[in-house]
Amino acid sequence: MRVNAERLWQMLMEMAKIGATDKGGNTRLALSDQDIFGRSLLLEWARKINLSVHYDEIGNLILRRSGQNDTESPIVMGSHLDTQPKGGRFDGIYGVLAGMEVMQRLTEENITTYHPLELIVWMNEEGARFTPAMMGSATFVGILPKQQAYDTTDKKGVSVYQELIRTQQLGKYPLARPFQAYYEAHIEQGPVLENNQVAIGVVSGGQAILWLDIETRGKAAHAGTTPMNFRKDTMVGTAEMIVAVEQHIIEKFPQGLVTFGEMQVANSSRNTIPEHIQWTIDLRHPEDDMLMAMEVATHKLLNSFAVQRGLEVRISRHWFSPSTCFDQVCVATVQEAVDQLGYSNQPIVSGAGHDAINIAKHCPTTMIFIPCIGGLSHNEAEDVHFNDAGRGADVLLNAILNYDQKYARSMRQKQAEAI
Ligand SMILES: [Zn+2]
Repeated sequence: MRVNAERLWQMLMEMAKIGATDKGGNTRLALSDQDIFGRSLLLEWARKINLSVHYDEIGNLILRRSGQNDTESPIVMGSHLDTQPKGGRFDGIYGVLAGMEVMQRLTEENITTYHPLELIVWMNEEGARFTPAMMGSATFVGILPKQQAYDTTDKKGVSVYQELIRTQQLGKYPLARPFQAYYEAHIEQGPVLENNQVAIGVVSGGQAILWLDIETRGKAAHAGTTPMNFRKDTMVGTAEMIVAVEQHIIEKFPQGLVTFGEMQVANSSRNTIPEHIQWTIDLRHPEDDMLMAMEVATHKLLNSFAVQRGLEVRISRHWFSPSTCFDQVCVATVQEAVDQLGYSNQPIVSGAGHDAINIAKHCPTTMIFIPCIGGLSHNEAEDVHFNDAGRGADVLLNAILNYDQKYARSMRQKQAEAI
């Protein structure tokens, strides 16, 4: 079975009119009026197919379709409708509307699944107005205490709780309700699928992330009076370290990523040799062990360059997030769906944070990626091909049916055995 790709595309284009920016993107910050207009448009579609509407205690919006056995916990699809300031039309929105199209298609075909189905719009995924990101899903699974989320304020001092009340998004549906499984379709937000000319990314999990804070210290001296062989030049030493770490990661860790995103030169002046630099390293790898090996290698390289240049170096961990391994059964149902549909595909690891990474701590979870043009995301120019949008939703539909039927079958067998 396939979705109606045309209808999905029309929904995407309708949604893109809300909070549209001059350069073809969207601005719908979490719990802003625009965000609520987006949710209202989704509700119009939901009501046409009689989905029941609920809100939970952190403003996640839940659209529910009854199953044959409504006491079972639901199979859940979801993503987010909020965007970055001047963000794209597909990041998050795609997963929500692919889910809505699945609901519409099942209704059209008069199919009642064994489990109830839910489509969830997670509150504040982007973290652009209220930090941290992925707030709705983090609060749902209990990583973020509810009160802390409520008390979070934006730059104007307006709290999440005030906005939940003002926009009438606060409900009574309990957090941490059991889910049978969770599926999130999303644009890749990177260039890999497009580059490999592959339609579907079968996502196996999310990569581990390690943030290091580095301090390098040499000696401040006059740019005009200090001969080259008398210098303890912190800038040049730091530059050497950066290049060496990058080279090492490229050569020894083919799946590793390293980024040097921040650098503060203390008392910087164009005619003084810098004495003290604070900088950051962001290391990522799909496997925790390999990430640890990258950390060890980084320490070794930094220390050896510090010795050569006569510098002091201090390295400290700022944050570590272990890798996420998605549920094998869920991943298998996606692979099965892709094979049934005959779409080109490859395994892939999520490089970005997603609500699914939080929900994976709560229930069997996986994701489905589609290519995005030029790998662009968090950008007004973010775009996808019509065919890819349809294919991703086809996979979502069939993966969910596969999961539902597998479990329905095993439940019926158990019931039969009990009799
Ligand atoms: Zn997203």
